[in-house]
Amino acid sequence: MYHGAQDGWVEVISGVMFSGKSEELLRRVRRALIARKRVQVFKSHLDDRYAGVFTISSHDGSRIDAHPVSSSVQIAEFVQPDTQVVAIDEAPFLDDGVVTVVNDLADRGVRVIVAGTDMDFRGEPFGPLPKLLAIAEKVDKLHAICVVCGDLATRNQRLIDGKPAPAEGPTIQVGGAERYEARCRKCHQVPHLDRDQTELDIDDAPVSA
Ligand code: ADP
Ligand code: ZN
Repeated sequence: MYHGAQDGWVEVISGVMFSGKSEELLRRVRRALIARKRVQVFKSHLDDRYAGVFTISSHDGSRIDAHPVSSSVQIAEFVQPDTQVVAIDEAPFLDDGVVTVVNDLADRGVRVIVAGTDMDFRGEPFGPLPKLLAIAEKVDKLHAICVVCGDLATRNQRLIDGKPAPAEGPTIQVGGAERYEARCRKCHQVPHLDRDQTELDIDDAPVSA
């Protein structure tokens, strides 16, 4: 890479859901294994989308499993002293302490690859991701395709029964295609319960009522 072998650094793979962040994280991990680096992969325990699937095998037969963690402290505990590359998927679900953990690892000479969506479903900065973007040496922002209009998607559209979810919902709600869509800025909708409830009610009401 662009740093010397002993130097640590932080790289962030960010962007909307379905933009290929996990694919890109896996690609980088696979290549680090080919380079015979000692790699450890972590992911939030909240995300069980690929429970048991996130196992990477390299051609020389080495295998690596993503270690589920519930807090940033656990990452610090589980990282072995001789680990050279640490990959963390779904970082927004972790606590703010992940910023310090990641910085400390990089200071120790570890290459840290962090992936996660940078905005919540409202389009606001999500968890520790904005801070990670700020401290990273390298940032990639990936895009998906807006499922409404086909433009580049940058926003996470949360849906409830196929309709835009209100802003008042919980920030963290793990889900896949049944609950989220990738959309562009124009097609992204975040109704407010107070202001838009009447409109929502009218939409939901039977036409003949
Ligand atoms: P992320 O980790 O960013 O959520 P993944 O790596 O899990 O993304 O998945 C990326 C894959 O999702 C793409 O390669 C593509 O096959 C699929 N996909 C589904 N919906 C979309 C979309 N709207 N735009 C782009 N890719 C999509
Ligand atoms: Zn669109």
